[in-house]
Amino acid sequence: MRIAVLSETDAAEPRVAAVPETVKKFMGLGADVVVQSGAGLKAGVPDSDYEAAGAAIATSAEEAARDADLVLKVRRPGADELKLLKSGAAVVAIMDPYGHDAELKAMADAGISAFAMELMPRITRAQVMDVLSSQANLAGYRAVVDGASEYGRAMPMMMTAAGTVPAARVFVMGVGVAGLQAIATARRMGAVVTATDVRPATKEQVESLGAKFVAVEDDEFKQAETKGGYAKEMSAEYQKKQADLVATHIAKQDIVITTALIPGRPAPKLVSEEMVASMKPGSVLIDLAVERGGNVAGAKPGEVVTTDRGVKIVGHLNVPGRLAASASALYARNLYAFVETLVDKEAKALAVKWDDELVQATNLTRDGQVVHASFQPKAA
Ligand code: NAD
Repeated sequence: MRIAVLSETDAAEPRVAAVPETVKKFMGLGADVVVQSGAGLKAGVPDSDYEAAGAAIATSAEEAARDADLVLKVRRPGADELKLLKSGAAVVAIMDPYGHDAELKAMADAGISAFAMELMPRITRAQVMDVLSSQANLAGYRAVVDGASEYGRAMPMMMTAAGTVPAARVFVMGVGVAGLQAIATARRMGAVVTATDVRPATKEQVESLGAKFVAVEDDEFKQAETKGGYAKEMSAEYQKKQADLVATHIAKQDIVITTALIPGRPAPKLVSEEMVASMKPGSVLIDLAVERGGNVAGAKPGEVVTTDRGVKIVGHLNVPGRLAASASALYARNLYAFVETLVDKEAKALAVKWDDELVQATNLTRDGQVVHASFQPKAA
C-alpha cells in the first residue's frame, strides 16, 4: 500500500495533510509513505522531519503520486493533479463539493475514489475524524487573537499607576464549535464576554464558560434546533426581533466575532450597515462566515475594511490556515483515524467497506461515477 502526501497547489493553503506523527502511524499499518518535497514547509514541517519518520521524499507531485493507492490532501485535487493519479486510487481531502459539479465529474472521470472529510457524520464513532470541529475550534481561537491584534486597546482590565484600562467587551454571535472556543479564548484574555445563538442549548454552554447569554427567547427560539443539532433558518419576524436586540447591544461592544452558519444556506445576515455605524471608532468585527456570504454587512473576503468611522471589519479567508501547524496536526490526525478504517491490517492493503456509514457519507466518486446521493447529476 503506497500513500502519497502532496503539496497543496493553492498558494492560499498552507496546511498539509500528514505530519511526522501520522506518517509513523501509516508505516505502522504497513504502508509506504511518499511526501512531495516541501509539502509541510508552510506548516513548519521540513522534509527532513518526514524522512526521520520513515517517509520517502519525492521531488515532484508526479513522482509522489505515481502508483499511489491512497492520496492525502487538504483540498480537492485539481485537473493537473488528477492526471497524475492512477485509476482506482483513493483520495481523501476537504472536497468542498457543493456547487462544484464539474469538478466532481472530473474526479469521477479520472477514476478515483474521492472522499470528502467534511461530510463525515457527527456521530460518536467519527468524532476523532471530525475536521469541521478540529478546524472550527482553531478558527474560533484565531478570531479572538486577530480581533485583539486589530484592536488598539488592551483586552483585560489593567489598573496601573497611570490609570485604569477598562476590559474589552467581546460579543460572539453564533455559538457552535468556533463560537465556544472564541468565548473561552476571550475570557482567558480577560474580556467581558456576551454571546448569542438561536439554539436554546447554547444558553447553558455560554453561561458555563462564564459569559452572558443575549437572545430573543420566544417560542420560535425554543424550536430553532434541528434533530441534527444545527440551526434552522429563522422567520422574518424573529430576525427583526433579533436585529432590534442586537442593535442596542452591539453599539456598546469593542470586538464582535460572528460565526453563524446554516447548513446548505447562505450565512444569515446578522450585523447591518447601521449596526456597524453605531459602533465606537476603533472597534473590530471579525466575520468568520465571510466565505459563506458573511454575517456582517460590508465584510469583504480576504480583506480588512476600515469604515469611515474607523470601525474595522475583518474578513480573513482560511482562518484555520492562519494556524497552519496546529491545523495540520489536527487535520492529519482526523485523516489517519478515517484511513485506518479503510485498511485491512492483516493484508496491509486498502480494503474499503463500501457499505460502512462513514464511507457512504463521505464517498463522492467511484468507478467513474459520482456516487454520493447528494450530488447526483441533475436529469436533463
Ligand atoms: P455551524 O458552524 O453550523 O454554525 C455555527 C453556529 O451558528 C451554530 O451554533 C448555529 O446555531 C448558529 N446560528 C445559525 N443561525 C444563527 C442566527 N441567525 N443567529 C445566531 N446564531 C446562529 O455550527 P457547528 O459549530 O458545526 O455546530 C453545530 C452543532 O453540531 C452544534 O449543536 C454542535 O454541538 C454539534 N456538534 C456535534 C459534534 C458531534 O457530535 N460529534 C461535533 C461538533 C459539533
